[in-house]
Amino acid sequence: MSKIPINIQKDMFSSPKSECIRCGTCCKKGGPSFHIEDKPLIEKGIIPTKYLYTIRKGELAHDNIKGGLIPVASDIIKIKGRKESWTCVFFNEAEKTCKIYENRPLECRVLKCRDTREIEKIYDKNRLTRKELVSGIKWIWDLIEEHEKRCSYEKTGRLSKKLETGKTKEALEDILEVVSYDAEIRRLLVSKGGVDPDITDFLFGRPLIETIKMFGPEVQAKIISCFRPRS
Ligand code: SF4
Repeated sequence: MSKIPINIQKDMFSSPKSECIRCGTCCKKGGPSFHIEDKPLIEKGIIPTKYLYTIRKGELAHDNIKGGLIPVASDIIKIKGRKESWTCVFFNEAEKTCKIYENRPLECRVLKCRDTREIEKIYDKNRLTRKELVSGIKWIWDLIEEHEKRCSYEKTGRLSKKLETGKTKEALEDILEVVSYDAEIRRLLVSKGGVDPDITDFLFGRPLIETIKMFGPEVQAKIISCFRPRS
């Protein structure tokens, strides 16, 4: 998987149909991003957080409406893909149906492949963030804030540039500290806090050791060759 689709592709169909034929293409292009209107679906557990992940501020994501890879301005919470594909975890491949159809999020309700005007209007408005969902649980929110302070994409990007241009040893140590903290907080939360490992990508975004590639193949290669996760 090379890039994260923020949204549904404007030109995903070469010959738009006059009505939905339930081909499932939109569900295979990636799960929706959440908006404030979708908050009750998560709060009530209709869509459990283990099926979600967060694209954190500064992370590169593909904007299918504007086009191209862009660093996102704030959290984007999305439904995970199934296994190694972008196919939404709630898509029933055999029947070409949505397992949560009655409770599908806003983007799924407004998306019409044959007319993308409605989704274009809303796709970057009122996006739901982790703060709206978990800031009421102080210890979790404190961990998220601490993680953001230590492992932001702004900081990781700054260190990656340093790694490419100058004080290599010092930058490598600093960036390894960031990647190690990102891995360690997940490990501890699961092993000591009894937290479901499947919710860590929602709490802390995707692991930095996976997303570090956005800073270039050289940075990725250096980090991967030196990174030793604690067992
Ligand atoms: S939630 Fe349902 S409608 Fe929306 S992308 Fe997933 S399977 Fe498709």
